[in-house]
Amino acid sequence: MGEVLKTGVRGPGSGDREQPDVLVRGGTVWTPEGARAADVRISGGTIAEIGDLAPLPGERVIDATGLHVLPGMIDAHVHADDAIGPYELADTFPTASELALTTGVTTLAGFVTQRPGETLTAAVERCRARARGRSRCDVRFHLTPTAWPWPWDEVESLVAAGCTTFKLYTTYREAGLFTSYERLAAVMERLAPLGARLLVHCEDDEVLRAVDASALDPGDAHEHGRLRPEAAEVAAVERVLDLAARTGCPVHIVHVSTADAVARIAAARSRAAVTCETAPHYLLLTDAALSGRNGHRFLCTPPLRATATRARLEADAAAGAFDLFATDHCAFTKADKDAGRDDIRAVPSGVAGVGALVPMLFELLVVRHHLGLGELATRLAANPAKLLGIYPRKGAIAAGSDADLVVVDPSGPRRPVVSTLADAYETYPGRTTTWNVRHVLLRGEAVVADGALVEPARPTGQLLA
Ligand SMILES: [Zn+2]
Repeated sequence: MGEVLKTGVRGPGSGDREQPDVLVRGGTVWTPEGARAADVRISGGTIAEIGDLAPLPGERVIDATGLHVLPGMIDAHVHADDAIGPYELADTFPTASELALTTGVTTLAGFVTQRPGETLTAAVERCRARARGRSRCDVRFHLTPTAWPWPWDEVESLVAAGCTTFKLYTTYREAGLFTSYERLAAVMERLAPLGARLLVHCEDDEVLRAVDASALDPGDAHEHGRLRPEAAEVAAVERVLDLAARTGCPVHIVHVSTADAVARIAAARSRAAVTCETAPHYLLLTDAALSGRNGHRFLCTPPLRATATRARLEADAAAGAFDLFATDHCAFTKADKDAGRDDIRAVPSGVAGVGALVPMLFELLVVRHHLGLGELATRLAANPAKLLGIYPRKGAIAAGSDADLVVVDPSGPRRPVVSTLADAYETYPGRTTTWNVRHVLLRGEAVVADGALVEPARPTGQLLA
């Protein structure tokens, strides 16, 4: 636990004192208060001041004239460098973080799933070891305890050390992840006074089990939507919202895929501390992708939905119904995806997305729906940081915050969107974006310069509590 404590607070590890000071000059800076023409001075890895600033002797100047300066973005839902059942995920921390940086994402949040016989602390350390010295982005983890009852002494120590987000599932019995509503209630009652937050994957197991699968055509990926209907998500969301209201525990609903669930969540905000996210693939793809010989490549859970649902989700996104967007990046190798193409039950469920988060949300919210870049800063930086309990250290351009900055030209040239660097299928083939990242700073260190990735002597990412 010593290391968790050490890296969880700002200290010598947060910024490199050897680093020269940097002045990001002449850009449009997106602070929590809005956009303004300003310069940003960075000292010791953190933001020192914002204003009309002249370069100091020895200071390195990044010219942001005509460009926008945004906080480093955060993908709060990434599966990488882990095994899911018998499958090794295609992306590692090195590949996922490399691609993320080139799009302006500077922090990734992954998942620790406790294995049988493993203590929570050992599980956390196992996952942290995968990221340590290998990730170019800063990394934080959500925790999924799988043993019952929870070891509350250990949980309290972890929360005190900054691991404040836990994730549970209302389904996946076979994988040992299912949690009943009764147990959810018990967990939420204990988590609430700790100030921790529960993330929930909402698909009601009873609704799923009641689906008649007797006439299943296993070769038709389209069947996945019938096996995992919208009603399952809505039913679980309703139950979880009631528990959140009853226990007072802050709850975050992950990867919401139905507009009916969004409506339930919106209506519950006055009585429960609830937030929610959706993933770009629910906003941009429909179950039409599941048709044809390659439909299995787009199998994910919850499934891609019908055209009408996607359209409603897009309208919800444009209206600010989602607190944040996160990818649920879960790339499997082409070989692993294709091995089950004749039986959808044998296809690992998940799609790539980590490289697509910022470009695709930029295209959707800013280009198509004419929202400001501040909307991206709120939904892809500030709110994810708040979820993770690391705001305003992350997610804001403000004095004292980590100097995680993205200097971007949002007007071109047009380039392809890339979801993954691994040997996995592209989720948005043919899609392009004018989102052009010119510079990325991670705690003041240049990790992308003049549009090109900087090859570091060692990966620059740090482990956050
Ligand atoms: Zn996930």
